[in-house]
Amino acid sequence: MKIAIIGAGFGGMAAAFDLQRAGHKVTIFESADYAGGLASGFKEPHWNWSVEKFYHHWFQTDKPMLDLIRELGWEDQVLFPRPLTVMYHAGQFHPFDSVLKMALFPGLGWGVDKIRFGFVGLFLRLTDNWKALEKITADAWMLKWAGKNVYQKMWEPLLVGKFGPYYKEVNMAWLWARIKARTTRLGTFQGGFQNFADKFAERLRMMGVEIRLQTRVKFIKPAPDKGLLVDAGLIESFDRVLVTTSPYLLARICPDLPENYLQGLLKLKSMGAVVMALSLKRQLSEQGYYWFNLPKEEGYPFLALVEHTNFVSPENFGGDHIVYAGDYLEEGHEYFSMSEDQLLERFMPAFKKFNPAFDKNWINKIWVFSTNYAQPVPLVNHSKNIPSIETPIAGLYFASMSQVYPWDRGTNFAVEIGRRAARLMLA
Ligand SMILES: Cc1cc2nc3c(=O)[nH]c(=O)nc-3n(C[C@H](O)[C@H](O)[C@H](O)COP(=O)(O)OP(=O)(O)OC[C@H]3O[C@@H](n4cnc5c(N)ncnc54)[C@H](O)[C@@H]3O)c2cc1C
Repeated sequence: MKIAIIGAGFGGMAAAFDLQRAGHKVTIFESADYAGGLASGFKEPHWNWSVEKFYHHWFQTDKPMLDLIRELGWEDQVLFPRPLTVMYHAGQFHPFDSVLKMALFPGLGWGVDKIRFGFVGLFLRLTDNWKALEKITADAWMLKWAGKNVYQKMWEPLLVGKFGPYYKEVNMAWLWARIKARTTRLGTFQGGFQNFADKFAERLRMMGVEIRLQTRVKFIKPAPDKGLLVDAGLIESFDRVLVTTSPYLLARICPDLPENYLQGLLKLKSMGAVVMALSLKRQLSEQGYYWFNLPKEEGYPFLALVEHTNFVSPENFGGDHIVYAGDYLEEGHEYFSMSEDQLLERFMPAFKKFNPAFDKNWINKIWVFSTNYAQPVPLVNHSKNIPSIETPIAGLYFASMSQVYPWDRGTNFAVEIGRRAARLMLA
């Protein structure tokens, strides 16, 4: 079969790997001039490693991704350091990345709240019954089982930070999935995610996959006889097409989809993200902390501060220290239209809270990245809203971040759904 894949992110590339291996002729159309999609990165001339535009790491439980890397023969290039994650309490940051450190965290006191926090965490780690949990909001479930104190201290800030105006509507299965499928050891690829994406794209090319970069697909429609027509400047026909873009973009490029499927795509909610990456002359967190969870109500102008070079060595970046300040935001938020300088002015006072000696002169360079499709918002009973991978148009398939539910989006689940879509396309 002649197969087109729209998108050279990890979902599209994983699908291409299986489809080409099964003996089909695969062409990937990618609008950007690089592979890797949301997990792509950039590099300064004096860096050996790339830096992801949006902070990225893997968990040890990311089986589909780690299995794929093993199949590609690159498992020796996966690194799993143990970086330090911290939580805010009363003006200070406290390590929060092991059961012992959670037990010692002062933010929950030393009594019943800590026990409730522990039991709720244990229950969520052990249960597989997410179908029951999706029937109720995380807000209501946590208030009931973890109690007001634990909820307000630990979970509400996370929900507010990630989902802004929707935070009270997000279902409990989302929180379950985060607790269930995450580990404290975090992984990355030697050279950065972009290095992995480039190597993967190169392997696909060697296998015979044609990857057309800087080639935006404008529309897809059923061919008059059989198959599908793809217009990316030149109209070509394919037997099968897999789209890996956001639901909104699929609806735009394929308006021939039946009304109920189209409406289903358009109704899905998601949050965008704005992330500032900074290259600094000095280490920001001298305690070596990697990930700071920040409560918005304390006045931080972003949700997470991530010091990448407390995860991988600054030696990989010519001695530069890489820091991210990121936030999940609803469409139309002012951060999307602010200039780099305006955003820096807004963010800079907060950097002193991580190191009082911080000074503007520490900054070598800043970059600001944004996307309006960063985090799908799962509402109550969300499983019935998930668009099927096989669309109602014969031969047209769809695999995106919005369909990996109940799992939270991630490159691991992009690989899983990409390969699942490939199996369906071959069935
Ligand atoms: C802030 C942030 C932090 C994240 N952190 C992590 C993390 O720590 N770990 C992790 O594993 N994941 C993380 N993720 C999620 C991860 O990046 C995504 O789940 C994953 O990259 C999605 O892959 P995909 O192939 O499904 O889609 P994408 O990567 O979005 O790929 C889709 C591709 O389609 C292309 N495209 C779009 N329209 C067209 C068109 N018309 N024609 C041709 N091409 C088109 C796009 O350019 C893109 O390359 C994070 C994401 C964000 C935003």
